[in-house]
Amino acid sequence: MIRIAIANQKGGVGKTTTAINLATALAATGWRVLLIDFDPQGNASTGLGVEKTDRERSSYELLRGDATLAEAVVATRVPRLDIVPATVDLSGAEIELIEVERRTHRLHEALAASEGQWDVCLIDCPPSLGLLTVNALVAANMMIVPLQCEFFALEGLSQLLQTIERVRARFNPQLSILGVALTMYDRRNRLSEQVAADVRAVLGDVVFDTVIPRNVRLSEAPSHGVPALIYDHRCPGSEAYIALARECITRLTKTAQAA
Ligand code: ADP
Ligand code: MG
Repeated sequence: MIRIAIANQKGGVGKTTTAINLATALAATGWRVLLIDFDPQGNASTGLGVEKTDRERSSYELLRGDATLAEAVVATRVPRLDIVPATVDLSGAEIELIEVERRTHRLHEALAASEGQWDVCLIDCPPSLGLLTVNALVAANMMIVPLQCEFFALEGLSQLLQTIERVRARFNPQLSILGVALTMYDRRNRLSEQVAADVRAVLGDVVFDTVIPRNVRLSEAPSHGVPALIYDHRCPGSEAYIALARECITRLTKTAQAA
């Protein structure tokens, strides 16, 4: 199972929107997809219509070892897409885990029980570089970093890269960046264009060709409990996430061939 963490310690850059819609687009190609909601806000769970009553066993119980992966997973209404939901309990995990043995490897170990059930696992990270994100980076073999096309897009990126380096050096040397995704691109706004050009100049080929446009359908869909790809599969946002999924598959295939 390929494991991809969607991480950026900034809030509101499009991590969850990317997690939900990329997961849906990958599932639509026939892949069996597992999404781990690893943010105490539980936006990915809500956005996929997981009711509170279906969150009795969540990523928090999974991390603590109080539930197995099989017990924590719930099916979504998207075919081939399952989720481990999150609840606000998860916000206590950062502190509770400090006392726990192998606290950085809890998610990694929980996912080891998944052999063969899913082709890919996406982990929707919280907006911090704390123990939850470190668990996600230890468990992952790849990362997707969403960057919002706004003035401070690159701000904070050096801390994120530093965290990745530390995780590589200490725990997970194979961790690599699958791509940087430019999000909320507004083509009527010259600043968006400028930021996108600057980010490409600084980061180069790691930036996906696909750019996710600012699209109101993407922000409306979660309140209906469905991915934009189901809410309105022909809107520009949905089309962009389908293109992003295609690009991910191409990159993953290249990586697999190189290995
Ligand atoms: P994060 O998970 O990084 O905090 P979200 O994916 O939750 O970010 O996005 C933050 C807010 O912006 C949400 O309200 C979401 O619906 C909205 N949003 C995200 N991507 C887009 C987009 N491309 N166009 C319009 N709204 C978006
Ligand atoms: Mg989020």
